[in-house]
Amino acid sequence: MLELITQTSTNLPPDVRQAMADAICIEAPKTQAGQALAIIGQNIDMAYEQEGAICQDTGMPTFEIKTPVGADQLVMKKQILAAVAEATARGKLRPNSVDSISGKNSGNNLGPGTPVIHFEQWEAPEIEVRLLLKGGGCENMNIQYSLPCALEHLGRADRDLAGVKKCLLHAVWQAQGQGCAPGAIGVCIGSDRATGYHLAKLQLFRSLDDVNPDPALAQLEREIMHEANRIGVGAMGFGGMVSLIGCKIAAANRLPASFFVSVAYDCWAFRRLGVRLDAQSGAITQWLYRDPQRLVERLLPGAGFEVSGREINLETPLREEQVRALKVGDVVLINGPMVTGRDAAHHYLMHHEAPCNLEGALLYHCGPVMLKEGTPPNIRWRVNAAGPTTSIREEPYEAEVMKRFGIRAVMGKGGMGKKTLAALQEHGAVYLHAIGGAAQFYARCLPRVHGVYLLEELGIPEAMWVFEATDFPAIVTMDSHGNSLHADVAASTGAELEKLGVRE
Ligand code: SF4
Repeated sequence: MLELITQTSTNLPPDVRQAMADAICIEAPKTQAGQALAIIGQNIDMAYEQEGAICQDTGMPTFEIKTPVGADQLVMKKQILAAVAEATARGKLRPNSVDSISGKNSGNNLGPGTPVIHFEQWEAPEIEVRLLLKGGGCENMNIQYSLPCALEHLGRADRDLAGVKKCLLHAVWQAQGQGCAPGAIGVCIGSDRATGYHLAKLQLFRSLDDVNPDPALAQLEREIMHEANRIGVGAMGFGGMVSLIGCKIAAANRLPASFFVSVAYDCWAFRRLGVRLDAQSGAITQWLYRDPQRLVERLLPGAGFEVSGREINLETPLREEQVRALKVGDVVLINGPMVTGRDAAHHYLMHHEAPCNLEGALLYHCGPVMLKEGTPPNIRWRVNAAGPTTSIREEPYEAEVMKRFGIRAVMGKGGMGKKTLAALQEHGAVYLHAIGGAAQFYARCLPRVHGVYLLEELGIPEAMWVFEATDFPAIVTMDSHGNSLHADVAASTGAELEKLGVRE
C-alpha cells in the first residue's frame, strides 16, 4: 500500500502523461497557456525523478478495493491506515485531514472519514486496489445539476442528452482555471444525489484512452471532448486550446421525479493508479494503467520553462510604485522573502494582529508539504512541495487583510473577484498567478525557510511559513489598473459557449 500511495502521488499514469504531452504539443509555446504547460511538464518530470509529490495537495486518498470471498477486510483496513500515516510522515502525502468542528489537523491523514475506503467482493482470487488522489481545488469544482434547469450562456437544459451535454459544457466552463485546467470529468447521468457523485468519481478510474462500451455515451464523450476544447478556457484558465483531457460518462437508473447530472472534475494532476495483489502474501502481482514493457519517458522534449530576459525582477518587500507599474500579462521573477497564508491564516488575520510584519509583503496562497530534518536542537525545515492553492476562497477576506497589513501582492491560482480587484486599485497591489499543481517546480524556487508562525494552532498546510524565493516565476493576472485576465477569459469563453449553437 505504501508503494501504491508513493507511486500514485509522484508518478502520473501513462494515459495522463500522454494527454498532457499532447496538450503541450497543441498549445503554442509562447502563449501564457503554453508557458503554464511547460512548467507543468517540467514539474511532472521533476516529481518522477525525485519521487516527490506532483502537487502539494495530495487530496483525499480514495481507495476502491475488490476482494475475494473470505478476505479479511478489517486487517486490510488497518494496513491501509498504517500505510497512509507512513506516506504522510515521508512527505508523499500532505497532512490533509482536518477536524470539521475544531479545525485541528490530525497530522497523519487519519481521522473520521479519512481516508475513504470502499470494499466490494468479487469472484476473482486476487485483491485489486485502485487509488485516487484528488485535491481540494478540483474537488471544489465538482458540480451537480438537477434537470430541467437554466444555465448561464446556454439556456434551458432539458431531461435529454442535449440537456446533459449543456450541463457538461457548463461544468468545464464554470471551472475556469480554479480546478487547474486542463482537467478531466467523470460523469454520472441519473441515480440519486449521493450515489450520482460516487458513480461520477468512479468514472475517473477509467483510462483516458478507453472507449465507452455504450455507443450513445461514447458519442457524447467524443462530442464533449471536441466542443469543450473549443470554448477556450485553456491551461490554468489563461485562455487556450486545451481545456479538457478526458470525459468519461456513466448512466444509472433514476427516480421518475429526479434527473441529476453529477460531475467530478479532476485537474491535470490526475493521480490514480492501481495494483493487483496476491491474496495470500499481499505482494504486488500487477500494476494497473501501466505497461510493464514501457519505461517512463520524460514528458518534456526540451528544457521546460526558460527565462527569456523579458521578465520583471520583483524583489520583496514591495513598494507601492513597484506594483503600480505592473500590468496584466507581465511575467515576474520573485526574489526575497514571501509569506504563505491560506484559509485558516486569513480567518486568523481577520480577528488578530499579524504574527509577523506584513508591510510590503507578498502573501502566497499555498499549503506546502514540509519536511523536518535533523535532530534537536538542530531541526530545520525543507520545502518538499509548494504550488499555489485556489485564491477565490479568500475573496471574502483579502481586500481587508491586504489593506490592514499593507500587503502589496497576493499570489495563488485561479484569480480573485471584484472586491479584491477594487482593493488592488485603491490600495496599490497586484495579484500574481503561479501555476497550479507545479509543486516540485516551485519547491526548487524556495531554497530556504526563514521561519514559521501559527504552526501549533493551524498545522503544516495552514501555518504562515516565511520562505526565501529565488527566481520564482509568476504571471500578473490582476493589476492595480482594474484589469483582470480572469474576468476577460470568463467573458470570452462565455461568448464561445453561446456560439456553440446549443442555446434554446
Ligand atoms: S493541481 Fe491544482 S486542483 Fe489539482 S490538486 Fe493540485 S492544486 Fe489542487
